[in-house]
Amino acid sequence: MPRVYPIEKVRNIGIIAHIDAGKTTTTERVLFYTGITHKIGDIDEGTTVMDWMEQERERGITITSAATTCFWTPMKLPKVKENEYRFNIIDTPGHIDFTAEVQRSLRVLDGAVVVFDGVAGVEPQSETVWRQADKFKVPRICFINKLDRMGANFEKSFGSILQKLTPGAVAVQIPIGLEEKFEGVIDLLDMKAIKFEGDFGQTIKEVAFFNDKGEPRPEGREEIPNDLLEESKKWREKMVEKIAGEDEKLTEDFLTGKEISADDLRNVLRKAVLSYKLVPVFCGSSLRNKGVQPVLDAVVYYLPSPVDLPPVKGTNPKTGESLERKPDDSEPFSALAFKIASDPYVGALTFFRVYSGNLLKGSYVLNTATGEKERIGRILRMHANEREEVEELYAGDIVATVGLKSTSTGHTLCDEAHPIVLEKISFPEPVISIKIEPKTKADQEKMGLSLKRLAEEDPTFKIKSDLETGETLIAGMGELHLEILVDRMKREFKVEANVGRPQVAYKETIKQAAEAEGKYIKQSGGRGQYGHVWLRVEPKDRGQGFEFLNEIKGGTIPQEFIPATEKGIKEALDKGVVAGYPIVDISAALYDGSYHDVDSSEIAFKIAGSMAFQAACKKAKPVLLEPIMKLEVVISEDFFGDTIGDLSARRGKIEETSERINMKVVNAKVPLSEMFGYATALRSMTEGRGTFTMEFDKYEEVPQNIAQEIIEGKRK
Ligand code: GDP
Repeated sequence: MPRVYPIEKVRNIGIIAHIDAGKTTTTERVLFYTGITHKIGDIDEGTTVMDWMEQERERGITITSAATTCFWTPMKLPKVKENEYRFNIIDTPGHIDFTAEVQRSLRVLDGAVVVFDGVAGVEPQSETVWRQADKFKVPRICFINKLDRMGANFEKSFGSILQKLTPGAVAVQIPIGLEEKFEGVIDLLDMKAIKFEGDFGQTIKEVAFFNDKGEPRPEGREEIPNDLLEESKKWREKMVEKIAGEDEKLTEDFLTGKEISADDLRNVLRKAVLSYKLVPVFCGSSLRNKGVQPVLDAVVYYLPSPVDLPPVKGTNPKTGESLERKPDDSEPFSALAFKIASDPYVGALTFFRVYSGNLLKGSYVLNTATGEKERIGRILRMHANEREEVEELYAGDIVATVGLKSTSTGHTLCDEAHPIVLEKISFPEPVISIKIEPKTKADQEKMGLSLKRLAEEDPTFKIKSDLETGETLIAGMGELHLEILVDRMKREFKVEANVGRPQVAYKETIKQAAEAEGKYIKQSGGRGQYGHVWLRVEPKDRGQGFEFLNEIKGGTIPQEFIPATEKGIKEALDKGVVAGYPIVDISAALYDGSYHDVDSSEIAFKIAGSMAFQAACKKAKPVLLEPIMKLEVVISEDFFGDTIGDLSARRGKIEETSERINMKVVNAKVPLSEMFGYATALRSMTEGRGTFTMEFDKYEEVPQNIAQEIIEGKRK
């Protein structure tokens, strides 16, 4: 079966925003308008549209899907199949505690619509997400939402994008009216007013300023008062200058005062968006159903299709050689699993993005992370209101499958004959943990299962059981992250649990090299035990983990006992020598030892390895490490002094302070252990007017006096 949609007509996009900017509302509108277009022939507009929307809202399933497929025909074109574009909308989380979720969605989408609150402008989280999108090289368009709200200010919000996010921002629309007088938008490219009528703004009314000859249209004058016309001309001039600046010919036309056509501007703007030079800015109010459709047009005009992007990179798992796969159906099949979701109807759904090649339903693919083969039995394309079973997949597709056995988030699925490991999504290690205890016996059984499910979905969520105390610990990226997971356990799996106080995930490491001997010898009648090793430990750079080196020559220790020694070391690694936390960033070289023909055994070498490692670490200046968080606090001037003082008391290092639209911004690095309950503290300190965002930065050595308290158990 040939592909239905040419790859050029596919857009894999995400809608990203600061929490509360209106991502959900905007997504709902997008699904609504794109649903209408798809079904316009077979529904009775008015009643059915409304029913559909209400039903959707009740079920609320549309926006929780990891990827939703919908269709859009640019407003200018006749609504026929040939003009239709397929959008796959990838869900992105609003909160920064879910860094991994943000990263994995940015990894698989090709372009993004960034939504801003038209009152607040750029907020701290928008900046964080923006920087992540920069890192993943995601072309973007912006939508300044909520222009109907009291205090909405387009110019200021646009200014904050320009100032804080990118000098490449270019306004291609301005609002008609603001706050309760907000009526629609002016399209500066075509110089026309666009209004949105009907119950859901689905009826578009366009009024052009000028006729084909460039003369003012008398009927337009009513809609567009003189001052708005003047204002539009001013903004248009700025826009044309900026877009023209990206193209030699247009620059010349602009300088010589030649008229530049809207199509030429659009073409150059598209190229500039794809090369990260310009970011067009749109505006509206999703809640009032105004301004969303032009943004859908903009997705078509300015955001990339899979073929507009460079080939995806990877490595050959056998040879380590670098490989590339072009977004082409004739290349070998390669895909990346980016989300596992539990679905009430079909169980675990694995969402994946196809980067190259095609695949028939029922085929086998290789998972290069596990080395196992998986059968792709059913392929589902998730729409807002239905799931479609698909027979064949093509490059650029984003779909889900059921029944995969060994595939988790971040794994590559590919053609067995052409193995590739696509660049991994790297997930940070959890920095915080809490004890969790089921409330009843019945909860106990369900708890294990539900935690396992949640951990499968979220690679930054880990479960650990303490063998000594029998307690269960869950670990994640922040207080809120764990709170939400516990809440999901309650709601989705009906498990009630008590949770303890959050604890910091400390680690240990060493500061210098050291050598030590480990001897486990027992020779008292019968068969004895004999294991004897010499180890050298050395510090490694932060984040390098553990490395074992075998430097045994000439059979001083027989080969068979070497893996046993390594195993002993790894066990000792988990229980550090300072305060029992895992040891990281260390290498251990096994360089000498001895054995006994009869008494030596694997178990004896395992114990000797473990003893030698502990002894060596104790001599190697062991220290405690703690997670340091990157923090941004936004407060008004009045609370600046108090906030800084409080942060210093929390061992915070202030890195920068700046101004942002009447507010003070403080950037600091603070140990996580000092930040519990900061949300409450900041609220009371600033009378509820301060906000902050925090994300993990790195591990650092704990100062001596504090380390002492941790060791003595006075501090958690
Ligand atoms: P999200 O957290 O980014 O998903 O934001 P939501 O879509 O849930 O919106 C947050 C709040 O802002 C909700 O109360 C919405 O009703 C409201 N909201 C969203 N869009 C608009 C808008 O265009 N105008 C106004 N006045 N409120 C809006």
